Amino acid sequence: MSRHTSLKVGGPADLYAVPEDADDLQNLLQGLKNLSVPWLTIGKGYNLLVRDKGIRGAIISLERFNRIADLGNRRILAEAGAENLAVVRFAQELGLGGIGFISGIPGTVGGAIKMNAGAYGSGILERTESLTLLRDGRVAEYRMAELDYGYRHLALPSEDIVLAAIFNLDQREPQQTEEEIRKDLELRRSKHNVGFPSAGSFFKNPPGQAAWRLIDAAGMRGVRLGGAQVSEVHSNFLVNTGGATTHDFLELSILVKDAVFKTSGVTLEEEVRIVGEENS
Ligand SMILES: Cc1cc2nc3c(=O)[nH]c(=O)nc-3n(C[C@H](O)[C@H](O)[C@H](O)COP(=O)(O)OP(=O)(O)OC[C@H]3O[C@@H](n4cnc5c(N)ncnc54)[C@H](O)[C@@H]3O)c2cc1C
Repeated sequence: MSRHTSLKVGGPADLYAVPEDADDLQNLLQGLKNLSVPWLTIGKGYNLLVRDKGIRGAIISLERFNRIADLGNRRILAEAGAENLAVVRFAQELGLGGIGFISGIPGTVGGAIKMNAGAYGSGILERTESLTLLRDGRVAEYRMAELDYGYRHLALPSEDIVLAAIFNLDQREPQQTEEEIRKDLELRRSKHNVGFPSAGSFFKNPPGQAAWRLIDAAGMRGVRLGGAQVSEVHSNFLVNTGGATTHDFLELSILVKDAVFKTSGVTLEEEVRIVGEENS
């Protein structure tokens, strides 16, 4: 999985499946169910920390599900494997906007929906009208009012697969969206260009506070464990300086959490999803 995650760590999965279409996906799930093989759907792995022993079961990538369509009435549909920037660009060509804040967030619509990815105080689910989910073998549409979500969080049963999302957008001059994309990329180049593989923010911001400030106050900026390091550039980014293992990241995150708790009394919670066989 080190080849499929931005942190570039993690042992192998038993199976890596890339279904072609919805029928293929349904057949795959039926086959896995018959064999009692567990599975996990992923996007581009920009927010995943896979344990060193890897994944007992199957990884399902929806990278072939990448259609984006104009539904009219300022609504667009994007399948789970479409990349965030491609969605923003598609909307821009239609003179629509309001999701420019996801343009620089690396990853896919499926990953962004599951994480309620966001920036500058906005989360993608705020602009989402409904989701198409594959739940218990059935494809159905769910309106956001039926679902439970919040900051970097969408509560779904672990076996639900996000197939697509419908976004409700605003009329917006393409030039305005262009400016939004440019500003976002510029800011990210200066703040997020940490020089090493990362998963972006490792910890969630506690209510009303910035995780990076708490980590700085705890004196943890730059601290290293094995090949993992609290970035010198952005202290809420844990980076792989070369040859890191997942064990290094897990141990380093414990050090960070302990130090922050001691100095501020705040318990940080991981934003990255930690998956895979335990005791590694
Ligand atoms: C440099 C950098 C900057 C970043 N900046 C930001 C930022 O500003 N804001 C932000 O919110 N995040 C940021 N991130 C984190 C990351 O980009 C987001 O969390 C992104 O949404 C992950 O998308 P992904 O497709 O890679 O998902 P993955 O990492 O592959 O998966 C994330 C989670 O979603 C689940 N999932 C994925 N697809 C599906 C699906 N179709 N159905 C059901 N579950 C699914 C996975 O099982 C996993 O639990 C940053 C990361 C990096 C490396």
